[in-house]
Amino acid sequence: MLDKIKREKVFKLKERLSREETNQFYMCRNACVRMDFEKATEYDYHCPECHEIMHMQDNTKTIAFLKEKLVTLE
Ligand SMILES: [Zn+2]
Repeated sequence: MLDKIKREKVFKLKERLSREETNQFYMCRNACVRMDFEKATEYDYHCPECHEIMHMQDNTKTIAFLKEKLVTLE
């Protein structure tokens, strides 16, 4: 049972990790939203919540965090 939960966690983390590694993410400076490149172009790089221009987010820290989590789980 526990093993199953753990395996699902690992699976989800890996999925998330590959998403982070293969996409560019854009974020509103007011932190309302975070979206991938494709979605950001849909909104013309403007936040749908507050209409501020969105900026590309450096997600190397997120990637490092996810990798670290995976190591502890596995
Ligand atoms: Zn916003």
